[in-house]
Amino acid sequence: MSVSPSSSAPLPAAADAVVVGAGFGGLYALHCLRQMGFSAVCFEAGDGVGGTWYWNRYPGARCDVESLQYSYSFSPELDQEWTWSEKYAPQAEIMAYANHVADRFDLRRDIRLSTRVVSATFDEKRALWVVETDGGGRVEARFCLMAVGCLSSANKPPFAGMADFKGPIYHTGEWPKDGVDFTGQRVAVIGTGSSAIQSIPLIAEQASALTVFQRTATYTVPAYNAPLDPEHVAKVKADYPALRARARSRPTGFYFPINTAPAMEATEEERRRKYEEAWARGGLPFLGAFGDLLFSKEANDTIADFAREKIRGIVKDPATADLLCPDNVFGCKRLCVDTDYFATYNKPHVKLVDVSKTPIERFTAEGIVVAGKTYPADAVVCATGFAAMTGSYEKIRITGRDGLTLAEKWRAGPRAYLGVASAGFPNLFMITGPGSPSVLASMIQAIEQHVDWMVDLMAHMRDVGARTFEPRVADEDAWVEHVNEVSQVSLRSTCSSWYVGANVPGRPRVFMPYIGGFPVYVQKCNEIMDGGYSGFVLEGAKSGKAAPEVRLTKRWHVPLDMDVISPAMLAARRVPVV
Ligand code: FAD
Ligand code: NAP
Repeated sequence: MSVSPSSSAPLPAAADAVVVGAGFGGLYALHCLRQMGFSAVCFEAGDGVGGTWYWNRYPGARCDVESLQYSYSFSPELDQEWTWSEKYAPQAEIMAYANHVADRFDLRRDIRLSTRVVSATFDEKRALWVVETDGGGRVEARFCLMAVGCLSSANKPPFAGMADFKGPIYHTGEWPKDGVDFTGQRVAVIGTGSSAIQSIPLIAEQASALTVFQRTATYTVPAYNAPLDPEHVAKVKADYPALRARARSRPTGFYFPINTAPAMEATEEERRRKYEEAWARGGLPFLGAFGDLLFSKEANDTIADFAREKIRGIVKDPATADLLCPDNVFGCKRLCVDTDYFATYNKPHVKLVDVSKTPIERFTAEGIVVAGKTYPADAVVCATGFAAMTGSYEKIRITGRDGLTLAEKWRAGPRAYLGVASAGFPNLFMITGPGSPSVLASMIQAIEQHVDWMVDLMAHMRDVGARTFEPRVADEDAWVEHVNEVSQVSLRSTCSSWYVGANVPGRPRVFMPYIGGFPVYVQKCNEIMDGGYSGFVLEGAKSGKAAPEVRLTKRWHVPLDMDVISPAMLAARRVPVV
C-alpha cells in the first residue's frame, strides 16, 4: 500500500471549510471542495485515513455490502483502476482503497492526522466557525463539514471491576494496529452484533477456550464470501455506470434482486422455496425474499421461523441452539452476515452465556461474573458497538447561535433538517447526519449524495453572495416529525436497537435514520434544491430564492424504481417536505 504522509505544512489560520474526519465522507468532501475551488483543512483523530476501516481491525472485519458496490461511484476512472479481490473485501483491503483514493486525488496535503477537533464555535458577528483541536490548533472557516461517522464512537459499557481484570480488554472498534494473537488463551467476547459475529469464528480458531456473553440473540445470514471471478469483475466493469445507476434507484442504495410480492400471498411451499433460494444466495439480500417482510408481523414471523430452523439445523446442542434463536422481529436490529458463526458453537471449547436476564455483574482479576459464577478469561473482547449516529458529535463542543450547544439542542434526540443541518448552527453540514438514510443505505452512496448536495449549496451561496444558510425551525420540526412518522410504518421501529439509541443506557429513544428509502430521500433533496433551497434561510443572498446551478448533484437526478417501492417509501412520498 502506498502511503504518503499527510500535510506537515503550518496550519493555515483560515480556510473556506473545515472537514472533521477522514473516512470515506471526509475524503470525498475534500475532493469535491477542491473541485469547486474551495480551500479546506481536514482533521482526523486517527493517524491514518479510512475511518471505520482504520479503526475496526478485529479478526474477520469486512464489508457486508458487496465490494463491487461498497465503493465510490463518482469516478469512472477509479472504478476501472481498482480491482476488489473478494465478494466482501477484508478490512485491510478497504483501508488500502481509502489510502489509494487519498493518493490518487492528492488529498493528503490538506489532511492533518492524529488531530482531534475538540470544539467548533460559531462567531455570529463574522459568520465564521472557529475550530479548535486537541493539539492547540485553531482554524477559522466559513463552513464546517462534519464527516465524523455514524459508527465511530465506541460504546464501552462501564462494567464494575474492569480495572481489576489482569488481562487486556479490547474493543472491536479500536483494535490494536498490530493485531492480537489469542493462541492458547481463554477469551471472553461480550456482544453478538455484526462485529462479534465476524470475529467469533476466527477468535475461536486461536483461543484455547472462548466464552461468548449474549444479551440478545442475533439473526445472521451466510455470506458465502469467495474470491471474485475475474470474468464477473470484467463484466461489471464493462458497464459499471449501469450498475451504479441501478443502485441509486434502490431503497438501500445498492442493487440486488428483490421480490416485491407479499409473503402471505404465497403458499407455504412457495415461501419456503423463496427463502431457501434467498438463503442460498446469502447476505443482506435475504431480506428481499418478499416485499413486506419488514412491514407485516405475520410475514416477518415466517422468515423468522425459517431462520430459527436454520440455526437449529446447524447447532448440535439443543440448549445452545435455543439460546441462539432470536425471538424478536427478523431484521429489526441490523441484519448480520457471517461465515461459520453458528457452526462455531459446535466446537467443544466454545461456550455461550446468556446475560439477557442476569446481566454481567462485574469483572474480577480472573474473569467475568454472571449470576454469581466466574467465567475465567485471559483477555476480553468488547464487541459492544457504538453510540451510533450522534456519539461523535457529542464528543465535540459545538456551539451555535446565542451560545446554544448542539448537545443541549439534541438532549431529547437529534434534530436536523434532511439530516444535513440543524437550525441555530449556520453553515454546519452533517454528512449522513441523523434524519438522513445514512446507515439504512449503502453508506458510500449516501455519503456521496450528501457531499454533492452540500458542496453544490456552498457553490450556490458563492454565486448569490449569501453569507450563511440555516434551516428554518418550522421546516426542521416538520422533517423530524416526518422521519418519526415514516419509521412507524416499519417493524424496525419496534425493537431496542442502536437505530433508536437503545443500546446505550440513558440515550433518548428516537428512530434516527430516515427509513423512507434512499431514492425518495434523494428526490426530496433535489426538490428542495430546485426550489431555491426551500426550508433554508440563505442570509445575504442577492437573488432571493433563485434555483441554483446544479453541478455535482446532477448525477443524483435518477427516476424512482417503482418496481421495488416499499410501504415506507410510499409513506415517505405521501408527505411533501415543505
Ligand atoms: P467513518 O468511517 O466513521 O469516519 C469518521 C472519521 O472521523 C473517523 O476516522 C474518526 O476518527 C474521525 N473523527 C470523529 N470525530 C473526530 C474529531 N472530533 N476530530 C477528528 N476526527 C474525528 N457500511 C456499509 O454501507 N456497508 C458495509 O459493509 C459496512 N460495514 C461496516 C463494518 C464495520 C465494522 C463498521 C463499524 C461499519 C460498517 N459500515 C458499513 C458503516 C461505515 O461506517 C460506513 O460505510 C463508512 O465507512 C462511514 O464513513 P464516514 O467517513 O462517514 O465515517
Ligand atoms: P452492535 O450491533 O450494537 O452489537 C453490540 C453487541 O453488544 C450487541 O449484541 C449488544 O447486545 C451487546 N452489548 C452492548 N452492551 C452490552 C452490555 N452492557 N452487556 C452485554 N452485551 C452488551 O455493534 P457492532 O456489532 O459493532 O455493529 C454495529 C454496526 O456496525 C452494525 O449493525 C453494522 O451496521 C456495522 N457493522 C457492519 C459489519 C459488517 O458486517 N460489514 C461488521 C461490524 C459492524 P444488545 O443487542 O442486547 O444491545
